[in-house]
Amino acid sequence: MLLEVNVNGSRLGDFLSLSREHPWELAPFSEALPDGGEIQVWDTGVLCIEPASPADKDIVLSCGIHGNETAPIELCERLLRAIVAGRLPCRQRLLLIFGNPAAMNLGVRELEENLNRLFSGAHARGGRHSRERERAARLEGHVARFFEARQGVERLHYDLHTAIRPSAFEKFAIYPFPHGAPYSRQQLSFLAGAGVDTILLAHGPTTTFSYFSAHRFGAHAFTVELGKVMPFGQNDARRFAAMERSLETLISEPGWQAAAVALDQIRVFRVCQEIIKQSDDFRFHFADEVANFTAFPAGTLLAEDGGQRWFVQEPEEAVIFPNARVANGHRAALMVVATELPPAQLS
Ligand SMILES: [Zn+2]
Repeated sequence: MLLEVNVNGSRLGDFLSLSREHPWELAPFSEALPDGGEIQVWDTGVLCIEPASPADKDIVLSCGIHGNETAPIELCERLLRAIVAGRLPCRQRLLLIFGNPAAMNLGVRELEENLNRLFSGAHARGGRHSRERERAARLEGHVARFFEARQGVERLHYDLHTAIRPSAFEKFAIYPFPHGAPYSRQQLSFLAGAGVDTILLAHGPTTTFSYFSAHRFGAHAFTVELGKVMPFGQNDARRFAAMERSLETLISEPGWQAAAVALDQIRVFRVCQEIIKQSDDFRFHFADEVANFTAFPAGTLLAEDGGQRWFVQEPEEAVIFPNARVANGHRAALMVVATELPPAQLS
């Protein structure tokens, strides 16, 4: 790593360390790339790569929106180092975002609030202030600046995460609510080729980062869960290799398309109910450490909160993101059912 920094005289091979040393403010600067393009630092944790002759995609790649989700952070850092060192030509415009450097420094998911619930203006609602709200507002501005710089190109945003708990399907992506627009066969193929063959269709607007890019900028955007949270340095990069190779190819080979995947190779779920925690009395009726996508039969009592109880209503429902420790009024779990994507809803 030091070698690369020295060879190119660049501060950017170690941009993540630079960002973590300046977790709230980093004055913008830019450097030339070996292949004629430019890297522009816009903010701490945020840099834009402008190729000399950009191809037809504008790509946002974000990680570390939750500070302790280290595998995607390490993956993005490897991509950046390869670009800075000239090993990986970046031919698409790329906005690379390390979401929450201050939380990374503390090894925590968040400082005050869940950053991935503060987009689409949610940071300005409720009359509260927090570090994450400030960051969400700035990240929105950076994404807007990036996408609004060009029209008529394909816009992509992959927001990379790891989950708190194990998952029956290790890698899965959340497809933001499309408001009637078709689901993209090409994107499902890209994700499947990257090892993400389970798709969860969101059931309504949300305040996540990926929904923000999809809804406001028409981007193909996804929240991508790549596995379980591990501390820095303890991730097995081989488990993320398919995603890493796919992203490398995406940014370095204009015109490349992932091999088409048959729909029956993709597991699809839709949300059937949300469990919202109402009070401190809230509790689940299943074990705390249950894996994501654990299935329960009809009639199972899932949770209760004072007088309110949640049961499985479909023949079988699976649980995702159960977390009894969320703040009151927030989602404690999502219940999903297996479904199919009708060809009429695909493009
Ligand atoms: Zn996350």
